[in-house]
Formats: sequence, structure tokens, C-alpha cells
Amino acid sequence: MKKDTQLAELGRKAVHEPKIVNVPLHRASTVLFDSLAEMRATQGAWGADEQVPTYGVFNMPQEVALANAVAELEGGYRAVTFPSGLAAVAGALLACVNAGDHVLMTDSAYAPGRQFAASFLTRFNVAIEFYDPAIGAGIKALMKPNTTVIYTESPGSHTFEMQDIPAIAEVAHAHGALVIMDNAWATGYFFNAFLHGVDIVVQPATKYYAGHSDVLLGLVIASERTWPQVKDVAIRLGQRASPDDCFLTLRGMRTLGVRLRQHEASTLPIVQWLASRPEVARVLYPALPGDPGYALWKRDFTGASGLFSVELKPCSRTQLAAMLDDYAHFGLGYSWGGFESLVAPANIDNARSVHPWRGGPLVRYHVGLEDAEDLIRDLEAGFERLNAV
Ligand SMILES: *Cc1c(COP(=O)(O)O)cnc(C)c1O
Repeated sequence: MKKDTQLAELGRKAVHEPKIVNVPLHRASTVLFDSLAEMRATQGAWGADEQVPTYGVFNMPQEVALANAVAELEGGYRAVTFPSGLAAVAGALLACVNAGDHVLMTDSAYAPGRQFAASFLTRFNVAIEFYDPAIGAGIKALMKPNTTVIYTESPGSHTFEMQDIPAIAEVAHAHGALVIMDNAWATGYFFNAFLHGVDIVVQPATKYYAGHSDVLLGLVIASERTWPQVKDVAIRLGQRASPDDCFLTLRGMRTLGVRLRQHEASTLPIVQWLASRPEVARVLYPALPGDPGYALWKRDFTGASGLFSVELKPCSRTQLAAMLDDYAHFGLGYSWGGFESLVAPANIDNARSVHPWRGGPLVRYHVGLEDAEDLIRDLEAGFERLNAV
């Protein structure tokens, strides 16, 4: 062989394939076949239930391992990965709608998902109507002959309203419509959406599944009945997560249970402490007794995660900045679900149409895995800075 041929052909086979604990990382565009017969046999198998790898990220071992693991944990049938949670939101909706359909979407849905529906789907003659997250069985009054999807998220983004998912699912199914749920806050660990009537679950694994603030990844998890349309949309859009990101997400998922139990254990005393502060008008967290969503949370969920909002009593922007700028442990930044504590002002002025926010300044916190007493001291120092202005 000449050097140029060597460069192309050497180093492509492992001398030994060790039997390691985790699924090894496969980075690939092309998959090679041993014969024309084998190649032909896998034609059209991209989305087949046999999950055969044929090309690129479609059905590569890492992706299949992650998708199957999450599907089982969430109580669904099969799943596909997307390169972000937002891509998964878009993918789930696109899997369900046709031109001429009417979609009911909760007013408290993740804002970029709302925008995808309201500004993008509408271009294809899909009508989007937002509804009160607390509507429950009352959603029946909003159903139209062409309503095909009810989109839910419980608790909702930033304002944490609980939804009566079983009641909504009953209305949807009596009508022949599907229920999609964004299950980011609880994950399948604390809420089995499929057992409560949901047909398709969206999971921004960027948050708790990956859990380490180093990955963007989304999944759409389907029931057996909705799987054909979900796998079809993933293939048509050409959207999958990279093997590296699937690897990191699987790795993060190993500790999902211990992390969520710790997020919950730290968050409960913190929200109770916050609720007693004179600067606070209200804590928005469904696992806090007295929260409007408490009864539904207790009925349907088996735990609570570390994300909540605080409505402050009226204060100036300068006071708010004094409090937020100098936290020692709560980083000022978007996202949540990692091991670390975060804070961000919840700007929902353009993200509500049924119930525009009329309360005081709203701040969203994520309680990470730091010691809860250290976090309370950090929050206390923040209030002192606010009061000193
Ligand atoms: C963050 C988030 C998403 C989107 O996930 P990305 O991976 O950041 O695109 C979707 N839904 C909810 C509820 C979220 O909080």
C-alpha cells in the first residue's frame, strides 16, 4: 500500500472489542455492509422498530440505548432524540398536525415552544388557541371539530400551574385528539405521564436527564399508537442528537434519581423559608402546601424537583439588580436542571395571552446540589442587599 492508501485504511479496526459497562461511543456518518444482500435488507429501516443502524446518527447504538432507556423510564413505548428540547417540542407538534387543524396549547407553555406554535405553525394554516392551564375538564368547551392536539406542560414554565392531565386527556380522547405533555419539571422519575393519559411526552433532557449543564438534547417519547407518526417526523426532519450528546445524557441519567431526591430535599426547606420572608409576596411551587396546584401535585406526582418562582413585593429595578447581581451560589443565567443553583428574572410579559402576569417582580430559582443552609444564607444576603438600596 502507498502512504495515501494507508492513511485511509489503517487504524479502522479495534484489536480487541472490550466488554465495557457502558455502550461505547460510535461517531459515524457511514455504516458499512458486508454484502449487497445485507444492504438491501436494511433499506428503509431507518425508522423501523428493529432499530437497525444504517446511516449517520439514525439508530446508532448510543442513540438507541438512550432513547429506549428514556422511553422505558417515562412509561412510553419508543422515543427519538432531537438536538435540543425546543427541537423536540417542535418535532412533537409537527408529528401531530395537518393544515387546517386546531391546536389547544396551555398558556404556561415554555415560551419558545409557544412562539414556534403561534408564529410558525400558523403559517401552515394550523390554528393555535391558548387556554388557562387550570382549565381541567372545562377544556371541553374549547374543543372544535378540527381540534387534533391538546398541548400541556405541568407544572407550567415560570408560573408553575398544575394541570389536571387525566381530566384533559379524557376530553381529548373522547374527541379523537392527542395529548402532548412537556414533562421537563418532574421527568418520568416523578410523574408517569402515559399512565395519566398522555399520548406523546416531550423531554428536554438538557435539564434533569443530562443534569450537568453541558449538553443540549431533547427527546420525544411516543405511546405504541403514536410511535409511527413520531418516528416518521424525526426521519423527515433529519433531526437527531449527536452520539457524544447521547453519551453524556446517558451518563447523567445514571444519577437522575439521587439528584432529584436531593433537589427535592433541599428545595422544600428553602421554599418554606422564602415564603416566610417579608420581601416575598408568594412562592410558586406546587409541592408547597397552600399552593393552588398542591392537591393535583399530591394526587398525581411522586416527588418535586428544584425549580420554582418567587413573586417579590413591589421593588425597583435597582433593588432587584442589587439582589441578583451578587449571589455567591446562585448563578445568573438561563436554563436549569443541572447540579448547580441558578437564578433568572422570569420575563413573561410576551409569554401569556389568557392571563397576562399582573403580579410583582417574578424571579425563577433552581436549587442545585449545594448545601441547603449555604443556599439560604446566600438568599438572605440577597434580601439584605435589596433592602439596603
Ligand atoms: C428548557 C426547556 C425546553 C427546551 O429545552 P432546550 O434543550 O433548552 O431547547 C423545553 N421545555 C421546557 C419546559 C424547558 O424548560
